[in-house]
Amino acid sequence: MRVLKHDHTTSNFMYSQPLHLSPIENKSFLVTGGAGFIGSNITEYLLAHGAKVRVMDNLATGNYDNLKPFEAHPHFQFMEGDLRNPDDCKKACEGMQAVCHQAAIGSVPRSIKDPITSNDVNVGGFVNMLTAAKDEGIRRFVYASSSSVYGDEPNLPKKEERIGNPLSPYAVTKYTNEVYAGVFARCYQMEIIGLRYFNVFGPKQDPYGEYAAVMPLFIRDLLNNQSPYINGDGEQTRDFTFVHNAVQANILGLTTENPDACNQAYNVAFGERFTINQMFEAIRQYLQKEIQPIYREPRAGDIRDSLADISKARQLLGYQPQYSFEQGLPLTIEYFKKIFG
Ligand code: NAD
Repeated sequence: MRVLKHDHTTSNFMYSQPLHLSPIENKSFLVTGGAGFIGSNITEYLLAHGAKVRVMDNLATGNYDNLKPFEAHPHFQFMEGDLRNPDDCKKACEGMQAVCHQAAIGSVPRSIKDPITSNDVNVGGFVNMLTAAKDEGIRRFVYASSSSVYGDEPNLPKKEERIGNPLSPYAVTKYTNEVYAGVFARCYQMEIIGLRYFNVFGPKQDPYGEYAAVMPLFIRDLLNNQSPYINGDGEQTRDFTFVHNAVQANILGLTTENPDACNQAYNVAFGERFTINQMFEAIRQYLQKEIQPIYREPRAGDIRDSLADISKARQLLGYQPQYSFEQGLPLTIEYFKKIFG
């Protein structure tokens, strides 16, 4: 952990630099969950670099507004569809050359409240999508896993090969995805890459609702001059990962030509951790507010500390996260300042 310094750089054009390892121009990508936070950022990168993108989303937690900037783009297509429907998955895969699978029901607490829906979408839907890709002859399939697969494994930093017992139904779904990914790679010679995201944050993250992530909630509350809630003592740590870094990992996964990089799961993070209190304080200082948080009971299913070892992604995918927490935070706050106008 280290003390936060502020970097007040702001830029709205994050995806101008190429990150792909092989040509993507005119190549067709299916992005599931593309109306959501991470999927819409991936869509932005792909379109900006000449690729064709079909987004499939049922808008359960995503927001079509995230896709509005691309509506008129000749290479963009939106298909409203549900992962739980095999026919929708089949139609979504038709004519595509690679799948970037982001769609899922996120949130640990949501899965604790409703494990059946999490399982139906995240496991059943995942198998539907893998099967549809296989039937269409698509080999490259990159998907969102999660740091939650580490569960109660106590060691830091988290290394891919050491995982513990899952602490929530959500974690079970992501772990199960990884098991299925291995089986589909072995049975059907697919090239499947899993990305274990660690607390992604940035523009387009949903700031609304019961299950919103903590950073947009803090920003929203502080902009509204309200005290945000902190679960527990706020000394829990997270490896906050700016969304540009998660996009980079997806683009590398979709375009790598290194056979050893396929059929693996990778940590996707920056490789530094900060406490929730430090994050709150950084946002408070940036916004120059005097507001204090309200502490409440810790949340079930949450892990205490999280920090990734990102050396595997560095070595096999060439992953080099470009935005630290301090660099991503101002971009995120400035985005939400515009949203909350
Ligand atoms: P998000 O909720 O913004 O995006 C998920 C998208 O999937 C939404 O647009 C939603 O409408 C869509 N979706 C949900 N159910 C669907 C269904 N049945 N059919 C079709 N579309 C459906 O979430 P996000 O933060 O962008 O997360 C993307 C992926 O990354 C998810 O798989 C999530 O579990 C994973 N992940 C995210 C984080 C993070 O910090 N944000 C951390 C670990 C893993």
